[in-house]
Amino acid sequence: MDCQLILDYDSGKILARLEKGSRCLVDGVRLRLRAGECLALIGETGSGKTMTALSILRLLPRNVRMEGGSLLFRGQDLLREKWLRRLLGVEIVYIPQNGLEFLNPSRSIKRQLYDGIAKLAIHRSARKGKALEALKTAGFDEPEEILEKFPFQLSGGMAQRVTIALALCSRARLLIADEPTNGLDQAGREAFLQLLHRVFPEAAKLIITHDIAVAALCDRTQVLCGGKPMESGPSEQVLGSSRQPYTRALIAALVENGMVPSPPLREQQGPCPFYRRCPRAGERCLSAPERHAEGMREWWCSSP
Ligand code: SF4
Repeated sequence: MDCQLILDYDSGKILARLEKGSRCLVDGVRLRLRAGECLALIGETGSGKTMTALSILRLLPRNVRMEGGSLLFRGQDLLREKWLRRLLGVEIVYIPQNGLEFLNPSRSIKRQLYDGIAKLAIHRSARKGKALEALKTAGFDEPEEILEKFPFQLSGGMAQRVTIALALCSRARLLIADEPTNGLDQAGREAFLQLLHRVFPEAAKLIITHDIAVAALCDRTQVLCGGKPMESGPSEQVLGSSRQPYTRALIAALVENGMVPSPPLREQQGPCPFYRRCPRAGERCLSAPERHAEGMREWWCSSP
């Protein structure tokens, strides 16, 4: 076994049960992450990014299930083992999009940090020092004051930094961050990713984002559309010289590239989730997209 391989994930099909029938939300997404690597998962709203992350954390909504996939964390099968809950917050750490919703409103920041520290078997006498250190590293100049506060006394930005402090009170091997840089400017995004790399150099990091500037700061990028993989590879190749029409459309839609939209061009749906909007779609696209590979990158498209 590759001992550096932290996450080996295959979504299979992730299906939502509806009043009438079911709907496939994610299909055939494969993620492999080694120690120290940072992978960005990008795509529009509804592309399946968050469902993919929630399935890794085994936190899918009650009406959603994973069918036929696999989930290995350091070689352990998390779909069969019961101990994922013991790993959550200790070796597998989630940094949410909305810190205020994530924190427990009825417990002080001190209590929530202490709960995390308790899982590390740190002696009670050292808990306060560890909590203060984590808050300071997360960017608080007055950590003593923050310890005594409750979540409702924090701004959204402060709550986000508290969730980072909670992550710092762990032995994270796998960090999953969902839109962690929402609302930050370019300097703030870079500072956030640098902080993750500095504090967790050995952890595998999965960054869920719709922000291409954030993906460009990660080692690798995987692009999703309609719950299906479209392209993956080193970020500079995927974002700098993509061969995949959907990735190109995402990049063309950036403000600095003129915000070129990709409106619906066809009534009919195709097996490729981008079929209705793709300017390059042709007869060939009426069968499932072919997989192409070149060096470290791969992409799915029926167009040559
Ligand atoms: S498979 Fe066809 S519709 Fe899909 S991205 Fe490629 S060219 Fe466009």
